Amino acid sequence: MSEDLLAGLDPEQRAVAEAVEGPVVVWAGAGTGKTRAVTHRIANAVLSGAHEARHGLAVTFTNRAAGEMRERLRGLGVEGVQARTFHSAALRQLRHFWPRAIGGAPADVLPRTAPLVAEACGRVGVSRDPAVVRDLVSEIAWAKQSQVSAADYPAVAAHREPPTTHAEAAAVYAAYDDLRWERGLIDFDDVLLLTVGILADRPDILDEVRAAYRWFTVDEFQDVSPVQDRLLDLWLGDRDDLCVVGDPAQTIYSFAGATDRFLLDFPRRFPGATQISLVRAYRSTEPIIDIANRVVASGGLRAAPLRSMQGSGPAPVIEAHADEVAEAAATARTLASWHDAGTPWREMAILVRINAQMPVFEEALSDRGIPVVLRGGERFFDRGEVREAITRLRGAARAGEQQESWIDEVRSVLATMGFGPQPPRGSGAVRERWESLASLVSLAETMQAERPGDMTLRTFIDELDRRAESQHAPVADAVTLATVHAAKGLEWDAVCVPGLVEGTFPHAQSRGDDQAVAEERRLFYVAITRARRHLVMSWSRSRTPGGRGQRERSRFLADVAAAGDVITEDDAPRGEHIRGRGRTRGARGRGQGGPARCRSCGKALVTGPERARSRCRTCPMTASEELMDRLREWRLARAHERGVPAYVVFTDATLEALAEARPGDEDALLAISGIGPDKLARYGADLLVLLAEAPESA
Ligand code: ATP
Ligand code: MG
Repeated sequence: MSEDLLAGLDPEQRAVAEAVEGPVVVWAGAGTGKTRAVTHRIANAVLSGAHEARHGLAVTFTNRAAGEMRERLRGLGVEGVQARTFHSAALRQLRHFWPRAIGGAPADVLPRTAPLVAEACGRVGVSRDPAVVRDLVSEIAWAKQSQVSAADYPAVAAHREPPTTHAEAAAVYAAYDDLRWERGLIDFDDVLLLTVGILADRPDILDEVRAAYRWFTVDEFQDVSPVQDRLLDLWLGDRDDLCVVGDPAQTIYSFAGATDRFLLDFPRRFPGATQISLVRAYRSTEPIIDIANRVVASGGLRAAPLRSMQGSGPAPVIEAHADEVAEAAATARTLASWHDAGTPWREMAILVRINAQMPVFEEALSDRGIPVVLRGGERFFDRGEVREAITRLRGAARAGEQQESWIDEVRSVLATMGFGPQPPRGSGAVRERWESLASLVSLAETMQAERPGDMTLRTFIDELDRRAESQHAPVADAVTLATVHAAKGLEWDAVCVPGLVEGTFPHAQSRGDDQAVAEERRLFYVAITRARRHLVMSWSRSRTPGGRGQRERSRFLADVAAAGDVITEDDAPRGEHIRGRGRTRGARGRGQGGPARCRSCGKALVTGPERARSRCRTCPMTASEELMDRLREWRLARAHERGVPAYVVFTDATLEALAEARPGDEDALLAISGIGPDKLARYGADLLVLLAEAPESA
């Protein structure tokens, strides 16, 4: 039994799995099988009888990663080991012991701290400017994760740069905590602080917790914060049944107080600890690992390069585009071509640096009808439509089955919520709701395929309940759109990393700060090592169409371009061509191919602004200014409604083309460049009315 279990491991991974007595530390690069090794270690410990499942606690950092760990353990035949985030493990203990330790009912956890921080700013006379408030929110979170009180903040945080003076930041921090207490609320970081406080103060409670949990595993240990480390220390006491795994080159939360110090110090803290490093990389192909090694080496992050076990693969691609709309459209095109070649949507991801980059990609994907799930958004089982669907399914199960098969029953219950086989048009809330319900159906189908004969509506609902409990959303067949932070520990066959310009990635806030740039480099390393086979890295010269095109390519791409097996493509060449030692493909041309041409005289267009407007400098615009104004006003209103930048609705070029051509029906609208079936469905009727009502000339 245990031989079978360990058969799929290499010698070093096997050593990890067999070291069932702690302390153990594993350090290794991305995709070397750290998570695989520790989940096998847990399985080996339980199945060999070395440890009891109910006394084990495995912790990691994101809900998705914890869910993934639970699934992997179940796959190995292990039930009963708790796999949680630090936060959820602490919250569970806090809620349980609250009545005894603090008294009364547990306080609610504040979903968003910004409004209360803004109020605290008001109290102490500090600017309530949203950007200031946002930065103060991060400062307070950092302080709490670092166990720094408001009183100590000015001294301890002298090296940090709050948006106000240190004394003011400390005053806001104190006022915020007062407000919070007055209202009986706690925040995300308090959960850890209070749990630590209770365990440190109450030996009786501490004994109970230590009796319940006796052996510990921590994945992604490079991102542990001081308060999390302290909590772990309290759980452990003077025992040493602890196994930690991590990669110092993947520390990406130090802005929030995380540090790789605890990982690097582990052998000093636990002399005699078993130390194992893994160097074989199983996730990614050679060309990807080659880039990853270069990125790590030029940041001085690690000495030993990784060796790919996947052999050769497609060359990674660097793409340059004129603007973000073109970049997003090209990204959607790339995903579609991977899909045509047989890669399922769920095996693809677009990883961005910050949330604000997402809308233009959502739009481009929806224009092509590509399904997408957002990570970091609302949790699947918290969504209204999912809760409603489960309630209805429960009702149907109680009423007894009316349909031939339980899957038909699921479909017919969801049909009562307006769910049909075809997705609705658009990318808004209606589409999201459909995607949620479609995820439930695809989960039902997957389970039926996996356990034919074994499934009923009842067992399906049990499974949903189990997953809701563990907050592990079913993976719909959809492309993941996520920040790099949310993608840590995860993997896909094909990954796009767009937005690789100076100021975005590395982020503008890191300017001039070497440590911050080093963290951005680690983030970039995490991003590219999520890919198994296909990797496209892109950037655009302007943010918006018709912009001046002065943005600079991310410095991280210099390492990448220097690799032997990388293709560089330029969609909007600007005289200077990016040259790598690798192969370089020339301009691919956009749209139908060939150079863009003036829509009045047909002359080839040269400059960026000319191409953005599809009109040469010498041909005058024939559209009426009044109509243009109306169109712009209309566009702004739509953009506000949808919470997206105006150019995401339509570019200026499309507005001009509309004003000049004045299409009178749907076919004529579709002939306009920038209007596809999706935009037609969303805006067509509206536009036709607007164009019909506009006076002939002005
Ligand atoms: P990260 O640093 O990104 O968290 P990791 O070191 O935890 O990565 P895993 O996620 O455990 O790596 O493994 C990466 C991929 O390689 C997974 O798909 C895993 O199944 C596969 N893998 C790991 N070890 C082996 C092995 N010995 N044989 C075959 N596949 C393996
Ligand atoms: Mg991992």
